[in-house]
Amino acid sequence: MSSTVLVINSGSSSIKYQLVDPASGESLASGLVERIGESEGHVKHRAGSETTELHDPVPDHANGMRTVLGLFEKVGPVLADANIVAVGHRVVQGGEYYDGPVLVDDEVVGVIDRLSPVAPLHNPPNLTGIRVARELLPDVPHVAVFDTAFFRNLPAPAATYALNREVAERYKVRRYGAHGTSHQYVSARAAELVGGDSANLRQIVLHLGNGASASAVVGAHAVDTSMGLTPLEGLVMGTRTGDIDPAVVFHLARNAGMSIDEIDDLLNKRSGMKGLTGHNDLRQVHRLAESGDEAATLAVEVYAHRLRKYIGAYAAVMGGLDVLSFTAGVGENDTIVRARAVAGLEFLGVEIDEARNEARSKEARFISPDGARVAVLVVPTNEELAIARQAVSLL
Ligand code: ADP
Repeated sequence: MSSTVLVINSGSSSIKYQLVDPASGESLASGLVERIGESEGHVKHRAGSETTELHDPVPDHANGMRTVLGLFEKVGPVLADANIVAVGHRVVQGGEYYDGPVLVDDEVVGVIDRLSPVAPLHNPPNLTGIRVARELLPDVPHVAVFDTAFFRNLPAPAATYALNREVAERYKVRRYGAHGTSHQYVSARAAELVGGDSANLRQIVLHLGNGASASAVVGAHAVDTSMGLTPLEGLVMGTRTGDIDPAVVFHLARNAGMSIDEIDDLLNKRSGMKGLTGHNDLRQVHRLAESGDEAATLAVEVYAHRLRKYIGAYAAVMGGLDVLSFTAGVGENDTIVRARAVAGLEFLGVEIDEARNEARSKEARFISPDGARVAVLVVPTNEELAIARQAVSLL
């Protein structure tokens, strides 16, 4: 039987997992544990057409992982028969250390831990997942796949903030990026789809989920990306501001009496589409806009305006543009956002075909007209498969 990889994405109060066949790309089982540490937990395990749900409390990550392993045992597929060759862990921040996947050992665990100050919301729970999984599955290699790895070798002018050099160096302040696994996967799929020699292909990938980021990719290398020291910078997101004048922070601290933690919470969790409209889900925002809500109409324009700015900027960074790809929840599904984002960009050779943009499909596809100067694509992302393949590539 073919080999499989168990992919784990451990968050602060959740564990997402998927058992993947890296060769065929087939997902053999997937699921999630939510509300870890709360009075009622939620576990959902999908195997084939069967879905199992539990609502018992899940006190901690170790308990959650044990429940998941129990479900594999009880509902299947039985892991002992699944020929697992690796456990792949999603880790958000690999700092300056990793530009690719790495076999987890105690030293790697130490580095991920030391990087926690630049990813306080993500690295600690990622690490908890790694610790628990290593304990429960000690006989398989564990591989860490970093969200930042694809951007580790960004050209210095793109990675460097114009911040006092000593301060930047001492506190490791630079652009690390995020969503790298998705940007790498989607840009590689897009190059395949477009065909021909991809060595100098100039691509922009727009990963638009609840978190959102843009990247500029030449050949197989990222040359710029919109997320920075943390995933707060760049595009307008579900609950994050994206780019904002840093002086807003001083202004609010001085004049609104807000603490740093309150401003952190405001910019990360109470802004973006949610802050503008009350909803982070674009589907609800569009519904409001259709019903005549002016704030929602403006919010969609703010979202699209930011996208257009980044497309223009990255085309300039690369000296032109060959491929523009949309991916993730919004990018794959939202016809309105896609149309607004590229409106007026005909001067760059960017156009979309209305019928192609409206057509619904789960497949990677062109939405630009035949013969257009820039290939505009929708490419469903698959971070789990990308992590599984990277894990196997290392072994
Ligand atoms: P995450 O960043 O949490 O992984 P996803 O990539 O799954 O998120 O994207 C989730 C977001 O995708 C939702 O918040 C919603 O805004 C958007 N979305 C999902 N389906 C649609 C749809 N059919 N139309 C518009 N937006 C959608």
